[in-house]
Amino acid sequence: MKNNTYEELAEVIRNANSIYLFTHIHMDGDALGSSAALCKAIRSMGKECFIIIEDKIPDNLEFLNKEYCADSFNTMPPADLSVCVDCSNMDRFPKRKELFAAGGISMCIDHHRTSEFGCDYNYIDSSAAATGQLVYRLILALGVQIDKEIGEALFAAITTDTGNFQYSNTSKDTHEIIAALYDAGIDANRVSVELYENVRKERLMIENRALSTLEMFCDGQIAMAYVTQEMLKETGAMMEETENVVQQLRSMKGVEVAVFLKEIDRETVKVSMRSKQKVDVSAISAEFNGGGHIRAAGCTLHCNIEEAIKKLSLKLTDSLERL
Ligand code: 5GP
Ligand code: MN
Repeated sequence: MKNNTYEELAEVIRNANSIYLFTHIHMDGDALGSSAALCKAIRSMGKECFIIIEDKIPDNLEFLNKEYCADSFNTMPPADLSVCVDCSNMDRFPKRKELFAAGGISMCIDHHRTSEFGCDYNYIDSSAAATGQLVYRLILALGVQIDKEIGEALFAAITTDTGNFQYSNTSKDTHEIIAALYDAGIDANRVSVELYENVRKERLMIENRALSTLEMFCDGQIAMAYVTQEMLKETGAMMEETENVVQQLRSMKGVEVAVFLKEIDRETVKVSMRSKQKVDVSAISAEFNGGGHIRAAGCTLHCNIEEAIKKLSLKLTDSLERL
């Protein structure tokens, strides 16, 4: 299917009076940063706009929410236009599905490879490092001036999804957009401190515990570690405070694929996968009904941690041996 143009998307937004933005559960910097930037831009056009959420905003992203987020999705009237931002599958916002579907027109703006073109209007570009890059272009098409606040929300979106400009998805376009955000007056250091240097002691404790479960497979090319509910209880940490462990696993010399397993309950394991240069982890995740990007993907397995490690190590060893 073909994308619409930014102009077409902008025209649909211009014709709507009320617009709700929906992003994925377990929101990250790109999800909330892109949504906040778009929300402010749309409000500045005199329209009603909210980001509809169903789970907690992570502490380090709270600075992005300038009263944009609403969680009373059960009682809100449907909007003229429902937009999914940084996701394209309604399963990524399970409790808000009905409100999304009740909107007059649907629109999707996303950069996930596994995106399905399911909305009335779509802009999906898997070559973009962050949805923030797409939202930047959409805001230009809307004719809205990018101010400091919109710029900082977009900076947060792009720095987080590029691993602070380290990942392979980072491009010339990424840096050109960031340069333009400096022109809008952003304080990149302030945003970086909010995002990255604001952690609780418990995060370091749980990282330490999780890293101590390290197991290597396939001559050191695969690194796996896990976190259990018990470990969270012992350290007082929250599950989202383990989000960086998978990057730490990948950072080891010789590691091509890093896998981090989160025990949701005894029968459910949420898997995060990262690869360094060769393996397509979105394809591997898709085999387990998940998805994502070539170098960062995930899935959910319905078994215990031990079985999950066995299944994934076999599948990944097989794919590494085929390279
Ligand atoms: P993370 O490991 O940070 O949770 O996710 C990495 C990437 O994979 C993200 O872009 C995320 O959207 C995608 N991803 C993670 N879990 C799933 C899943 O269960 N299904 C799909 N389709 N994508 C996922
Ligand atoms: Mn993203």
